[in-house]
Amino acid sequence: KNDQLETWDRENFFHPSTHLAQFARGELPQRVLTGGSGCHIEDRDGNRLLDAFAGLYCVNVGYGRSEIAEAIAAQAKELAYYHAYVGHGTEASITLAKMILDRAPDHMSRVYFGLGGSDANETNIKLVWYYNNVLGRPEKKKIISRWRGYHGSGLMTGSLTGLEGFQKTFDLPLDRVIHTDAPYYFRRADPGQSEAQFTDQCVASLEALIEREGADTIAAFIGEPALGTGGLVPPPEGYWPAIQAVLDRNDILLIADEVVTGFGRLGSMFGSGHYGIRPDLITIAKGLTSAYAPLSGSIVSDRMWKVLEQGTDAYGPIGHGWTYSAHPIGAAAGVANLRLLDDLGLVRNAGEMGAYLKAALTEALGDHPHVGDIRGEGLLCAVEFVRDRDNRSFFDAAEKVGPTVAARLLDQGVIGRAMPQGDILGFAPPFCLTRAEADEIVAKTVRAVAAAGL
Ligand code: PLP
Repeated sequence: KNDQLETWDRENFFHPSTHLAQFARGELPQRVLTGGSGCHIEDRDGNRLLDAFAGLYCVNVGYGRSEIAEAIAAQAKELAYYHAYVGHGTEASITLAKMILDRAPDHMSRVYFGLGGSDANETNIKLVWYYNNVLGRPEKKKIISRWRGYHGSGLMTGSLTGLEGFQKTFDLPLDRVIHTDAPYYFRRADPGQSEAQFTDQCVASLEALIEREGADTIAAFIGEPALGTGGLVPPPEGYWPAIQAVLDRNDILLIADEVVTGFGRLGSMFGSGHYGIRPDLITIAKGLTSAYAPLSGSIVSDRMWKVLEQGTDAYGPIGHGWTYSAHPIGAAAGVANLRLLDDLGLVRNAGEMGAYLKAALTEALGDHPHVGDIRGEGLLCAVEFVRDRDNRSFFDAAEKVGPTVAARLLDQGVIGRAMPQGDILGFAPPFCLTRAEADEIVAKTVRAVAAAGL
């Protein structure tokens, strides 16, 4: 064991999403990970943890899958890299594009490969702008995103992300990005308002925004089928068909960001199919390879594809490419991962185990005086804590109620995620979750809530 590792870590490693000063002072726990299998990870101190968040909701088939490891190794030996520019491909990248389109909604037409969710959304915004340039309407460029949406950490994608911590200290959002209401029924609905009435309110506020800004200045709307990082919130009844109708009426494209929901997390292959959304672009990443290698994609609809093709006759080759687009190792991981999802029936299991987990959490904590909401769809599930459930008052962020519950859960060897805004404990485990593991998550959550003093 290298006993300098913790020191090297503090002195050399710039960790993302981390309180840098506390880390450098040695005030944050450090964990050096060494292995994983199924829903568990291990660290070098011998701890074995039940990962009820699948990394960052991405290791969907679970840890330690030798089928994917072997596909990666075989590809690395055969051909670790060649670029995908001007017609180059590999068996893995070409096969993967076909497998994705076989699973995507019928009207989708091509896949552009990237590395992660953020760059895939950057690609989407460029494609939307390019599309409107080809159509001769260069003024139609604004993008509508939603408060609490999460679309990445880049300059444009950090602007789309509707969470304060990703914007204010970086002088974001950039121009051309505007935000509308989050469809967050539990927090945003008025007392006594039904889900359908709340949906009408979200739709009316979108319509008012479009009216104010002018439909001829707005290119696209981006949204996650179910809100992820902003709070793990499935949409209220009727939300997506109603939003889609407004966008269609105003000739505004729809980007479904399925980085979390794509490839089965909601118990359906895509969230778009699950909620009846007909997107022009679908963003995929995480579950595409179950994070065994970095790979993302933008799935482009027929109607956009026709215009993009026309554009290249007018402007020449499309001026957008990454060195690692369609990286053969990522593509090999993707092919093996999608096969495994099918062979093991994991999407169905995500739906069934998700329903089981939500029901068990509701049974155990549904009447707790500080639990305001237990919600979920498939294996995307959340418990939201409140100061008082009768008058729906919330704790102050400084009280750190969500992070404290997550810490007390971790003390018992289970990883849940304290979502970054609000006192929300999130669960998004691998799809191979068993009933016994779900029971363990629930029992330990109950103890964590008590240990946090709630
Ligand atoms: N879009 C959604 C919905 C996400 O949840 C994430 C990451 O969590 C991203 C985009 C960004 O992906 P990445 O972190 O791979 O850049």
